[in-house]
Amino acid sequence: MDLKNIEMFLLDMDGTIYLDDDVFDGAIEFIDTINKKHKKIIYLTNNSSKSKKQYLDKLNRLGFYAKEENIFTSGMAMGMYLQENYNNKKIYLVGTNALRDELLKYDVRIVEENPDIVLVGFDRELTYNKLEKACEFLCDGALFLATNCDYVCPIKNHRYVPDCGSICNMLTTATGKKPKYIGKPAPDMINILSNKYNIKPENIAVVGDRIYTDITAGFNAGTFTICVLSGESTMETINNSDIKPNLIVDSVKDLIKMI
Ligand SMILES: [Mg+2]
Repeated sequence: MDLKNIEMFLLDMDGTIYLDDDVFDGAIEFIDTINKKHKKIIYLTNNSSKSKKQYLDKLNRLGFYAKEENIFTSGMAMGMYLQENYNNKKIYLVGTNALRDELLKYDVRIVEENPDIVLVGFDRELTYNKLEKACEFLCDGALFLATNCDYVCPIKNHRYVPDCGSICNMLTTATGKKPKYIGKPAPDMINILSNKYNIKPENIAVVGDRIYTDITAGFNAGTFTICVLSGESTMETINNSDIKPNLIVDSVKDLIKMI
């Protein structure tokens, strides 16, 4: 297998190139190799709890090549989506201050009362008060949007914390309403990048550790898909999935010789 016709790599981060602060063996060399071959690198993340700047700082601190233009979060995609489809609508945000700052860059109108839309992100600053207000607004007929469907976010020692999908499920259980998700596995984020850089989906590779977000997003957008076994997925997960990756490797280190 070689990946010579791939012009752009869309890389998941957590579970793919690092876990928390632990950089996976060969991950920095993998990124440097893509860069040396003059192929495009985009760090593509469903995690909406952090801003672009926070990701940039983290990647650089861990030793990865990255500039602002290399980072694309579900929060940024949501800002673009709102600008295009719900310009000037009032938003009630269940999300971090970092997500709020990111959305404000896209002129999103964030309010505390009478919103048109309830928008949920991976809110590591969640309070019961926010859930209560979100439920009230959803009951009153507000539209329900969310950044990403992930149920959990991996932390060290194979443990997990609740992510946006779990927060949304709590609101769905309480109100009967289901959100529209923008992040992976929806193809929206990949489509935006494919158009922006004028690279066809077949010349794009999605590299990630999750079948139900990373690999499914690539499948939905028509890209090449590579599943790494360094994070959430095992061979059993892959065998049980209807959607199969084009390539399975133990870690990104195995990809260096194929680029
Ligand atoms: Mg991941």
